[in-house]
Amino acid sequence: MENKQHQEDFFFFQPASEEHLKREKKKARELRRSQWWKNQLAKGTCNYCNGREKPGDLTMDHVVPIVRGGRTSRSNVVPCCKRCNTAKQNMVPSEWLEYVLKN
Ligand SMILES: [Zn+2]
Repeated sequence: MENKQHQEDFFFFQPASEEHLKREKKKARELRRSQWWKNQLAKGTCNYCNGREKPGDLTMDHVVPIVRGGRTSRSNVVPCCKRCNTAKQNMVPSEWLEYVLKN
């Protein structure tokens, strides 16, 4: 059930306002400096492919992208390797979901 809800959130499209983008990007910059985020990076694991990465090679990814109305919150940001991050940016959400489920 929880997983299904997650998928619905993922596909829910909300055009994000300029204001929303600005606010959430600012929050992301702040969150990146937090101890909580440093702890996430210290685990050294990509959330999507479970690959082992050096903390410096992990990036912050918004599960629901900010441009789709996603927020910068602890439940919506995950550590992600550069390979997955690049792949995610080039895919539409349904393709990305397929990619994640395969891994
Ligand atoms: Zn990865």
